[in-house]
Amino acid sequence: QSTSKPPPLPSPLRFSKFFQSNMRILVTGGAGFIGSHLVDKLMENEKNEVIVVDNYFTGSKDNLRKWIGHPRFELIRHDVTEPLLVEVDQIYHLACPASPIFYKYNPVKTIKTNVIGTLNMLGLAKRVGARILLTSTSEVYGDPLIHPQPETYWGNVNPIGVRSCYDEGKRVAETLMFDYHRQHGIEIRIARIFNTYGPRMNIDDGRVVSNFIAQALRGEPLTVQKPGTQTRSFCYVSDMVDGLIRLMEGENTGPINIGNPGEFTMLELAETVKELINPKVEINMVENTPDDPRQRKPDITKAKELLGWEPKVKLRDGLPLMEEDFRLRLGVSKEK
Ligand code: NAD
Ligand code: UDP
Ligand code: UDP
Repeated sequence: QSTSKPPPLPSPLRFSKFFQSNMRILVTGGAGFIGSHLVDKLMENEKNEVIVVDNYFTGSKDNLRKWIGHPRFELIRHDVTEPLLVEVDQIYHLACPASPIFYKYNPVKTIKTNVIGTLNMLGLAKRVGARILLTSTSEVYGDPLIHPQPETYWGNVNPIGVRSCYDEGKRVAETLMFDYHRQHGIEIRIARIFNTYGPRMNIDDGRVVSNFIAQALRGEPLTVQKPGTQTRSFCYVSDMVDGLIRLMEGENTGPINIGNPGEFTMLELAETVKELINPKVEINMVENTPDDPRQRKPDITKAKELLGWEPKVKLRDGLPLMEEDFRLRLGVSKEK
Protein backbone atom coordinates (compact mmCIF):
# COMPACT_ATOMS: atom_id res chain seq x y z
CA GLN A 1 0.00 0.00 0.00
CA SER A 2 1.31 3.37 -1.00
CA THR A 3 1.96 5.84 1.80
CA SER A 4 2.35 8.86 -0.46
CA LYS A 5 -0.25 11.55 0.07
CA PRO A 6 -2.53 12.61 -2.77
CA PRO A 7 -1.56 15.97 -4.26
CA PRO A 8 -3.21 18.95 -2.54
CA LEU A 9 -6.41 20.17 -4.13
CA PRO A 10 -6.06 23.45 -5.95
CA SER A 11 -7.67 26.17 -3.89
CA PRO A 12 -10.99 27.36 -5.34
CA LEU A 13 -9.30 30.73 -5.86
CA ARG A 14 -6.50 29.26 -7.99
CA PHE A 15 -8.97 27.10 -9.84
CA SER A 16 -11.15 30.03 -10.86
CA LYS A 17 -8.05 32.06 -11.67
CA PHE A 18 -7.12 29.41 -14.18
CA PHE A 19 -10.24 30.18 -16.21
CA GLN A 20 -10.77 33.84 -15.61
CA SER A 21 -9.26 36.58 -17.71
CA ASN A 22 -10.30 39.44 -15.47
CA MET A 23 -7.76 42.10 -14.57
CA ARG A 24 -7.60 42.57 -10.80
CA ILE A 25 -6.75 46.16 -10.04
CA LEU A 26 -5.88 47.68 -6.67
CA VAL A 27 -6.45 51.42 -6.24
CA THR A 28 -4.94 52.84 -3.05
CA GLY A 29 -6.51 56.15 -2.07
CA GLY A 30 -9.47 55.19 -4.26
CA ALA A 31 -11.98 56.95 -2.00
CA GLY A 32 -10.33 60.30 -2.70
CA PHE A 33 -10.87 62.88 -5.41
CA ILE A 34 -8.78 61.53 -8.33
CA GLY A 35 -8.98 57.92 -7.09
CA SER A 36 -12.77 57.76 -7.17
CA HIS A 37 -12.91 59.13 -10.72
CA LEU A 38 -10.26 56.57 -11.71
CA VAL A 39 -12.39 53.80 -10.16
CA ASP A 40 -15.45 54.99 -12.13
CA LYS A 41 -13.47 54.71 -15.36
CA LEU A 42 -11.91 51.33 -14.52
CA MET A 43 -15.30 49.89 -13.53
CA GLU A 44 -16.69 50.75 -16.98
CA ASN A 45 -14.62 47.86 -18.33
CA GLU A 46 -16.41 44.62 -17.50
CA LYS A 47 -13.13 42.70 -17.45
CA ASN A 48 -11.84 44.75 -14.51
CA GLU A 49 -12.22 43.83 -10.85
CA VAL A 50 -11.39 46.78 -8.62
CA ILE A 51 -10.22 46.70 -5.02
CA VAL A 52 -9.97 50.03 -3.21
CA VAL A 53 -7.98 50.46 -0.02
CA ASP A 54 -8.32 53.74 1.84
CA ASN A 55 -8.07 54.98 5.42
CA TYR A 56 -10.64 57.76 4.76
CA PHE A 57 -8.29 60.50 5.99
CA THR A 58 -9.27 62.85 3.16
CA GLY A 59 -11.47 60.54 1.09
CA SER A 60 -14.95 59.21 1.77
CA LYS A 61 -17.14 56.20 1.04
CA ASP A 62 -19.61 58.61 -0.44
CA ASN A 63 -17.34 59.06 -3.47
CA LEU A 64 -17.71 55.34 -4.22
CA ARG A 65 -21.35 54.98 -3.21
CA LYS A 66 -22.48 53.74 -6.60
CA TRP A 67 -20.05 50.79 -6.59
CA ILE A 68 -20.58 49.49 -3.06
CA GLY A 69 -22.19 46.04 -3.39
CA HIS A 70 -21.16 45.63 -7.05
CA PRO A 71 -19.81 42.09 -7.70
CA ARG A 72 -16.63 43.38 -9.37
CA PHE A 73 -15.89 45.91 -6.62
CA GLU A 74 -14.43 45.67 -3.12
CA LEU A 75 -13.72 48.41 -0.59
CA ILE A 76 -11.27 47.84 2.28
CA ARG A 77 -10.54 50.21 5.16
CA HIS A 78 -6.78 49.99 5.41
CA ASP A 79 -3.82 52.24 6.03
CA VAL A 80 -1.02 51.71 3.49
CA THR A 81 1.64 52.26 6.15
CA GLU A 82 0.67 48.73 7.30
CA PRO A 83 1.46 45.65 5.16
CA LEU A 84 -1.31 44.54 2.81
CA LEU A 85 -1.96 41.06 1.46
CA VAL A 86 -4.12 40.92 -1.66
CA GLU A 87 -3.73 39.22 -5.04
CA VAL A 88 -3.81 41.69 -7.91
CA ASP A 89 -2.39 42.31 -11.40
CA GLN A 90 -2.09 46.10 -11.29
CA ILE A 91 -1.69 48.67 -8.51
CA TYR A 92 -2.59 52.33 -8.90
CA HIS A 93 -0.91 53.80 -5.82
CA LEU A 94 -2.57 57.12 -5.02
CA ALA A 95 -2.93 57.00 -1.21
CA CYS A 96 -1.58 60.28 0.18
CA PRO A 97 -3.30 63.52 1.15
CA ALA A 98 -2.79 66.03 -1.69
CA SER A 99 -4.02 69.33 -0.30
CA PRO A 100 -1.39 71.39 1.57
CA ILE A 101 -3.60 71.93 4.61
CA PHE A 102 -4.17 68.19 4.98
CA TYR A 103 -0.62 67.04 4.27
CA LYS A 104 0.80 69.64 6.67
CA TYR A 105 -1.72 68.68 9.39
CA ASN A 106 0.31 65.62 10.43
CA PRO A 107 3.57 65.87 8.49
CA VAL A 108 5.15 62.79 10.08
CA LYS A 109 2.17 60.73 8.97
CA THR A 110 2.42 62.23 5.47
CA ILE A 111 6.03 61.17 5.08
CA LYS A 112 5.26 57.71 6.47
CA THR A 113 2.45 57.37 3.96
CA ASN A 114 4.79 58.35 1.12
CA VAL A 115 7.76 56.25 2.19
CA ILE A 116 6.45 53.24 4.15
CA GLY A 117 3.19 53.20 2.17
CA THR A 118 5.04 53.08 -1.15
CA LEU A 119 7.52 50.50 0.20
CA ASN A 120 4.61 48.24 1.22
CA MET A 121 2.92 48.57 -2.17
CA LEU A 122 6.24 47.75 -3.88
CA GLY A 123 6.68 44.72 -1.62
CA LEU A 124 3.18 43.65 -2.60
CA ALA A 125 3.92 44.24 -6.31
CA LYS A 126 7.07 42.14 -5.95
CA ARG A 127 5.28 39.25 -4.21
CA VAL A 128 2.42 38.99 -6.70
CA GLY A 129 4.21 40.21 -9.84
CA ALA A 130 1.92 43.22 -10.31
CA ARG A 131 2.62 46.36 -12.31
CA ILE A 132 2.54 49.45 -10.08
CA LEU A 133 1.84 53.10 -10.93
CA LEU A 134 2.77 55.88 -8.49
CA THR A 135 0.98 59.23 -8.59
CA SER A 136 3.90 61.51 -7.96
CA THR A 137 3.59 65.26 -8.24
CA SER A 138 4.81 68.43 -9.89
CA GLU A 139 5.92 69.36 -6.35
CA VAL A 140 9.04 67.25 -6.97
CA TYR A 141 10.19 70.26 -9.04
CA GLY A 142 9.82 72.49 -5.94
CA ASP A 143 10.03 76.21 -6.71
CA PRO A 144 11.28 75.55 -10.24
CA LEU A 145 14.13 77.48 -11.83
CA ILE A 146 13.29 76.03 -15.27
CA HIS A 147 9.98 76.86 -16.92
CA PRO A 148 7.97 74.98 -18.12
CA GLN A 149 9.18 71.87 -16.29
CA PRO A 150 10.38 68.86 -18.32
CA GLU A 151 10.81 65.46 -16.64
CA THR A 152 14.60 65.82 -16.94
CA TYR A 153 14.60 68.76 -14.50
CA TRP A 154 15.79 67.66 -11.03
CA GLY A 155 13.96 70.37 -9.16
CA ASN A 156 14.57 73.04 -6.54
CA VAL A 157 13.13 71.63 -3.32
CA ASN A 158 13.62 72.77 0.27
CA PRO A 159 14.41 69.55 2.19
CA ILE A 160 13.53 71.00 5.63
CA GLY A 161 10.49 73.17 4.89
CA VAL A 162 6.86 72.69 5.87
CA ARG A 163 6.01 71.23 2.44
CA SER A 164 8.92 68.75 2.52
CA CYS A 165 6.89 65.92 4.07
CA TYR A 166 4.98 65.91 0.80
CA ASP A 167 7.47 66.88 -1.89
CA GLU A 168 10.53 65.13 -0.44
CA GLY A 169 8.22 62.23 0.49
CA LYS A 170 7.20 61.86 -3.15
CA ARG A 171 10.82 62.16 -4.26
CA VAL A 172 11.76 59.22 -2.01
CA ALA A 173 8.74 57.33 -3.30
CA GLU A 174 10.03 57.82 -6.86
CA THR A 175 13.48 56.61 -5.77
CA LEU A 176 11.96 53.49 -4.19
CA MET A 177 10.03 52.78 -7.38
CA PHE A 178 13.18 52.92 -9.50
CA ASP A 179 15.24 50.88 -7.00
CA TYR A 180 12.59 48.11 -6.95
CA HIS A 181 12.54 48.27 -10.75
CA ARG A 182 16.32 47.98 -11.11
CA GLN A 183 16.93 45.59 -8.23
CA HIS A 184 13.86 43.34 -8.44
CA GLY A 185 12.58 43.86 -11.99
CA ILE A 186 9.23 45.28 -10.84
CA GLU A 187 7.19 46.87 -13.65
CA ILE A 188 6.77 50.50 -12.63
CA ARG A 189 4.99 53.60 -13.94
CA ILE A 190 5.45 57.10 -12.50
CA ALA A 191 3.05 59.95 -13.24
CA ARG A 192 4.01 63.47 -12.18
CA ILE A 193 0.60 65.02 -11.70
CA PHE A 194 0.10 68.78 -11.98
CA ASN A 195 -2.75 70.63 -10.22
CA THR A 196 -5.99 68.81 -10.92
CA TYR A 197 -9.55 69.99 -10.29
CA GLY A 198 -13.11 68.77 -10.74
CA PRO A 199 -16.21 67.44 -8.99
CA ARG A 200 -15.75 65.66 -5.60
CA MET A 201 -12.85 67.81 -4.44
CA ASN A 202 -13.22 68.41 -0.71
CA ILE A 203 -15.13 71.69 -0.40
CA ASP A 204 -12.96 73.08 2.38
CA ASP A 205 -9.65 71.43 1.55
CA GLY A 206 -7.91 74.75 1.01
CA ARG A 207 -6.84 74.15 -2.57
CA VAL A 208 -7.23 77.17 -4.75
CA VAL A 209 -9.91 76.06 -7.23
CA SER A 210 -12.14 74.52 -4.56
CA ASN A 211 -11.63 77.57 -2.33
CA PHE A 212 -12.56 80.07 -5.03
CA ILE A 213 -15.62 78.17 -6.23
CA ALA A 214 -16.93 77.64 -2.69
CA GLN A 215 -16.27 81.29 -1.84
CA ALA A 216 -18.02 82.51 -5.01
CA LEU A 217 -21.06 80.34 -4.27
CA ARG A 218 -21.21 81.46 -0.64
CA GLY A 219 -20.87 85.10 -1.72
CA GLU A 220 -17.61 85.45 0.22
CA PRO A 221 -14.52 87.32 -1.05
CA LEU A 222 -12.10 85.23 -3.10
CA THR A 223 -8.86 84.92 -1.12
CA VAL A 224 -5.91 85.43 -3.46
CA GLN A 225 -2.66 84.72 -1.64
CA LYS A 226 0.05 87.29 -2.26
CA PRO A 227 1.49 88.24 -4.63
CA GLY A 228 -1.24 86.75 -6.88
CA THR A 229 1.19 86.64 -9.82
CA GLN A 230 2.25 83.07 -8.93
CA THR A 231 1.06 80.66 -11.61
CA ARG A 232 -0.45 77.18 -11.82
CA SER A 233 -1.74 75.02 -14.67
CA PHE A 234 -5.02 73.23 -14.00
CA CYS A 235 -6.03 69.86 -15.44
CA TYR A 236 -9.63 68.64 -15.43
CA VAL A 237 -10.00 65.30 -13.65
CA SER A 238 -11.34 63.28 -16.62
CA ASP A 239 -8.25 64.22 -18.63
CA MET A 240 -6.06 63.21 -15.68
CA VAL A 241 -7.72 59.78 -15.35
CA ASP A 242 -7.33 59.19 -19.08
CA GLY A 243 -3.61 60.02 -18.83
CA LEU A 244 -3.07 57.72 -15.83
CA ILE A 245 -4.71 54.75 -17.56
CA ARG A 246 -2.70 55.32 -20.75
CA LEU A 247 0.49 55.43 -18.70
CA MET A 248 -0.39 52.19 -16.87
CA GLU A 249 -1.27 50.40 -20.10
CA GLY A 250 1.72 51.73 -22.08
CA GLU A 251 5.32 50.58 -22.20
CA ASN A 252 7.10 53.52 -20.54
CA THR A 253 8.14 53.64 -16.92
CA GLY A 254 8.09 57.43 -16.82
CA PRO A 255 8.33 59.69 -14.95
CA ILE A 256 5.87 61.42 -17.26
CA ASN A 257 4.25 64.80 -16.58
CA ILE A 258 0.47 64.68 -16.73
CA GLY A 259 -1.16 68.08 -16.58
CA ASN A 260 -2.69 70.87 -18.59
CA PRO A 261 -0.14 73.38 -19.92
CA GLY A 262 -2.66 76.26 -19.82
CA GLU A 263 -0.99 78.57 -17.27
CA PHE A 264 -2.83 81.16 -15.13
CA THR A 265 -1.85 83.56 -12.38
CA MET A 266 -3.94 83.20 -9.21
CA LEU A 267 -5.38 86.66 -9.88
CA GLU A 268 -6.45 85.56 -13.38
CA LEU A 269 -8.04 82.44 -11.88
CA ALA A 270 -9.95 84.58 -9.36
CA GLU A 271 -11.15 86.91 -12.15
CA THR A 272 -12.32 83.93 -14.20
CA VAL A 273 -14.21 82.33 -11.30
CA LYS A 274 -15.77 85.69 -10.49
CA GLU A 275 -16.89 86.23 -14.08
CA LEU A 276 -18.27 82.70 -14.55
CA ILE A 277 -19.83 82.07 -11.14
CA ASN A 278 -20.56 85.25 -9.21
CA PRO A 279 -19.66 88.68 -10.63
CA LYS A 280 -20.70 90.31 -7.32
CA VAL A 281 -17.92 88.84 -5.14
CA GLU A 282 -14.84 90.80 -4.16
CA ILE A 283 -11.26 89.66 -4.58
CA ASN A 284 -9.13 90.03 -1.41
CA MET A 285 -5.35 89.77 -1.23
CA VAL A 286 -4.27 87.69 1.80
CA GLU A 287 -0.98 86.44 3.28
CA ASN A 288 0.68 83.46 1.61
CA THR A 289 2.21 80.32 3.16
CA PRO A 290 5.97 79.49 3.18
CA ASP A 291 7.74 77.99 0.16
CA ASP A 292 4.87 78.62 -2.25
CA PRO A 293 6.19 77.85 -5.77
CA ARG A 294 6.08 81.00 -7.93
CA GLN A 295 5.39 79.29 -11.21
CA ARG A 296 4.32 75.89 -12.47
CA LYS A 297 3.52 74.61 -15.94
CA PRO A 298 4.08 71.12 -17.34
CA ASP A 299 6.10 70.38 -20.42
CA ILE A 300 3.91 67.56 -21.81
CA THR A 301 6.00 66.69 -24.89
CA LYS A 302 6.71 63.23 -23.44
CA ALA A 303 3.05 62.48 -22.66
CA LYS A 304 2.09 63.50 -26.20
CA GLU A 305 4.81 61.44 -27.85
CA LEU A 306 4.83 58.35 -25.65
CA LEU A 307 1.18 58.12 -24.57
CA GLY A 308 -0.58 59.97 -27.39
CA TRP A 309 -2.19 61.99 -24.59
CA GLU A 310 -3.06 65.62 -24.22
CA PRO A 311 -5.76 67.34 -22.15
CA LYS A 312 -9.06 68.17 -23.84
CA VAL A 313 -10.99 70.21 -21.25
CA LYS A 314 -10.18 73.92 -21.03
CA LEU A 315 -10.37 75.70 -17.67
CA ARG A 316 -13.40 77.71 -18.79
CA ASP A 317 -15.24 74.49 -19.67
CA GLY A 318 -14.17 72.56 -16.56
CA LEU A 319 -15.03 75.21 -13.96
CA PRO A 320 -18.80 75.10 -14.69
CA LEU A 321 -18.80 71.29 -14.29
CA MET A 322 -17.23 71.69 -10.88
CA GLU A 323 -19.61 74.55 -10.02
CA GLU A 324 -22.57 72.25 -10.65
CA ASP A 325 -21.24 69.65 -8.19
CA PHE A 326 -20.40 72.28 -5.55
CA ARG A 327 -23.88 73.84 -5.89
CA LEU A 328 -25.48 70.47 -5.18
CA ARG A 329 -23.25 69.80 -2.17
CA LEU A 330 -23.54 73.33 -0.74
CA GLY A 331 -27.27 73.53 -1.48
CA VAL A 332 -26.92 76.76 -3.49
CA SER A 333 -29.24 76.86 -6.50
CA LYS A 334 -28.41 78.68 -9.72
CA GLU A 335 -31.29 81.18 -9.53
CA LYS A 336 -29.97 82.77 -6.33
P1 NAD B 1 -7.24 63.08 -1.98
O1 NAD B 1 -6.76 63.60 -0.69
O2 NAD B 1 -8.63 63.40 -2.42
O3 NAD B 1 -7.08 61.50 -2.06
C1 NAD B 1 -6.10 60.78 -1.36
C2 NAD B 1 -6.76 59.52 -0.80
O4 NAD B 1 -5.77 58.77 -0.10
C3 NAD B 1 -7.87 59.83 0.21
O5 NAD B 1 -8.99 59.05 -0.07
C4 NAD B 1 -7.24 59.47 1.55
O6 NAD B 1 -8.20 59.10 2.52
C5 NAD B 1 -6.30 58.36 1.16
N1 NAD B 1 -5.18 58.17 2.08
C6 NAD B 1 -4.34 59.12 2.58
N2 NAD B 1 -3.43 58.57 3.39
C7 NAD B 1 -3.66 57.23 3.39
C8 NAD B 1 -3.07 56.11 4.02
N3 NAD B 1 -2.02 56.26 4.84
N4 NAD B 1 -3.59 54.89 3.80
C9 NAD B 1 -4.65 54.71 2.99
N5 NAD B 1 -5.27 55.73 2.36
C10 NAD B 1 -4.77 56.97 2.55
O7 NAD B 1 -6.19 63.58 -3.08
P2 NAD B 1 -6.20 63.51 -4.66
O8 NAD B 1 -6.24 64.89 -5.16
O9 NAD B 1 -7.22 62.54 -5.13
O10 NAD B 1 -4.75 62.93 -4.93
C11 NAD B 1 -4.52 61.58 -5.26
C12 NAD B 1 -3.05 61.37 -5.55
O11 NAD B 1 -2.61 62.23 -6.60
C13 NAD B 1 -2.12 61.65 -4.36
O12 NAD B 1 -1.09 60.69 -4.36
C14 NAD B 1 -1.55 63.00 -4.68
O13 NAD B 1 -0.28 63.19 -4.10
C15 NAD B 1 -1.48 62.98 -6.19
N6 NAD B 1 -1.51 64.34 -6.77
C16 NAD B 1 -2.67 65.06 -6.78
C17 NAD B 1 -2.68 66.35 -7.31
C18 NAD B 1 -3.95 67.18 -7.37
O14 NAD B 1 -3.90 68.31 -7.87
N7 NAD B 1 -5.08 66.69 -6.93
C19 NAD B 1 -1.50 66.90 -7.79
C20 NAD B 1 -0.33 66.15 -7.73
C21 NAD B 1 -0.36 64.86 -7.22
N1 UDP C 1 4.59 43.78 1.85
C1 UDP C 1 3.22 43.93 1.82
N2 UDP C 1 2.48 43.03 1.12
C2 UDP C 1 3.02 41.98 0.46
C3 UDP C 1 4.44 41.84 0.49
C4 UDP C 1 5.19 42.76 1.19
O1 UDP C 1 2.65 44.86 2.40
O2 UDP C 1 2.29 41.22 -0.15
C5 UDP C 1 5.40 44.74 2.61
C6 UDP C 1 6.30 44.07 3.61
O3 UDP C 1 5.63 44.03 4.87
C7 UDP C 1 7.53 44.94 3.66
C8 UDP C 1 7.48 45.75 2.37
O4 UDP C 1 6.28 45.39 1.71
O5 UDP C 1 7.47 45.84 4.75
C9 UDP C 1 8.65 45.49 1.46
O6 UDP C 1 8.62 44.14 1.12
P1 UDP C 1 9.90 43.39 0.54
O7 UDP C 1 9.55 41.97 0.37
O8 UDP C 1 10.41 44.12 -0.65
O9 UDP C 1 11.00 43.62 1.65
P2 UDP C 1 11.31 42.87 3.00
O10 UDP C 1 10.04 42.29 3.53
O11 UDP C 1 12.29 41.86 2.59
O12 UDP C 1 11.87 43.96 3.86
N1 UDP D 1 -4.01 80.04 -3.28
C1 UDP D 1 -4.72 81.23 -3.25
N2 UDP D 1 -5.86 81.28 -2.51
C2 UDP D 1 -6.35 80.23 -1.82
C3 UDP D 1 -5.62 79.00 -1.87
C4 UDP D 1 -4.46 78.96 -2.60
O1 UDP D 1 -4.34 82.22 -3.88
O2 UDP D 1 -7.41 80.36 -1.20
C5 UDP D 1 -2.78 79.97 -4.11
C6 UDP D 1 -1.54 79.43 -3.40
O3 UDP D 1 -0.81 80.51 -2.83
C7 UDP D 1 -0.77 78.79 -4.55
C8 UDP D 1 -1.85 78.38 -5.55
O4 UDP D 1 -3.04 79.06 -5.15
O5 UDP D 1 0.06 79.74 -5.16
C9 UDP D 1 -2.12 76.88 -5.58
O6 UDP D 1 -2.34 76.43 -4.25
P1 UDP D 1 -2.96 75.00 -3.91
O7 UDP D 1 -2.95 74.88 -2.44
O8 UDP D 1 -4.24 74.82 -4.63
O9 UDP D 1 -1.96 73.94 -4.59
P2 UDP D 1 -0.38 73.82 -4.69
O10 UDP D 1 -0.12 73.92 -6.14
O11 UDP D 1 0.29 74.93 -3.93
O12 UDP D 1 -0.11 72.48 -4.12
